[in-house]
Amino acid sequence: MADDLDDDIRQLADLLAQAERCVAMTGVRLGATEDTEAKAAGSAWGEFASLEVLLTEPARFWENWLPRALDASRREVTDAHRALARLEAAGVIKAIITQAVDHLHGKAGDGDLIEVHANVLSCRCTRCEDVYALAEVEQIAAASDDGVPRCTREGCGYPLRPTGTLWGEPLVEQAIIRAWDMAAWSDLFLVIDTQLRTDPMAMLPSVPLKRGSKVAIVGTTRTRYDRYAKLVVPRTGPEVLPGVADLLGC
Ligand SMILES: [Zn+2]
Repeated sequence: MADDLDDDIRQLADLLAQAERCVAMTGVRLGATEDTEAKAAGSAWGEFASLEVLLTEPARFWENWLPRALDASRREVTDAHRALARLEAAGVIKAIITQAVDHLHGKAGDGDLIEVHANVLSCRCTRCEDVYALAEVEQIAAASDDGVPRCTREGCGYPLRPTGTLWGEPLVEQAIIRAWDMAAWSDLFLVIDTQLRTDPMAMLPSVPLKRGSKVAIVGTTRTRYDRYAKLVVPRTGPEVLPGVADLLGC
C-alpha cells in the first residue's frame, strides 16, 4: 500500500512539474466530499441556510446558520491546506478556486484565491452595507430579543445577512467569471476532493478539457470527468498533497 501511495504521489508530482499554468479547484472541505459534509450538517444547510428562510423566518435562519458558521470559522488549517499554499508560493500552482466557505486556503497562504461562495467569516447590513466580523455578529445576535442580528450603526438597525452566498442565490458573479477565466487559461486543471455534482461549478473542468488542456482528479469518489482525466488519484487531498509538495521541494 505504501508503494502505491508513493506511486500516486510521484505521478501527480510529475504532472505538476510538467505544467506551466496549473490551477487547482477544491470542494467544500479538503479531505471530505460534498456528501460527507452534507451528512455532517444533517443536510440542514440546504434546508435552513436559504435566502427564503432568511427573508421569511429570520429567527429560525440565524438559530441554524450562526452555530454552523461559527463552527466552520473555527476549523483549523491542515497540512493539506499548507501543502497547497506551499505549491502556490513556489509557483507550481497559480491559483486556487474553492467551494469551501471556511476560508482555510486564505488562512494557509496569501496566494490567488477564488472563493465562489465567498466565506462565512463576515456578515453585512442589508441596508447600509456595513460589514461585521462573525464574532461581532455572534455578540449582537446574543443581545437581540429574537436572536436576529441587526446593524448597530446609528439610525440604521436593519437586519444583517451573511456576506457569502445562500441557497437559492446565484454565486458571487465576479468569482465565477474569474474561475471560468482561470480554468480556460490553465494547462493543467487539478480537481481535489469534490464530486462535481453541483452546477455551475460541476461544469468547470469541461472548460480546460474542451481546449485540450489536462485535467487531474484527486478524490475518493468517482466523478463524471474521471474518464477524460489524464490522471485520477483515488485518495483524499490530505493523503497526497503534503507528499507532492515535499517531492517538488516546495
Ligand atoms: Zn446598516
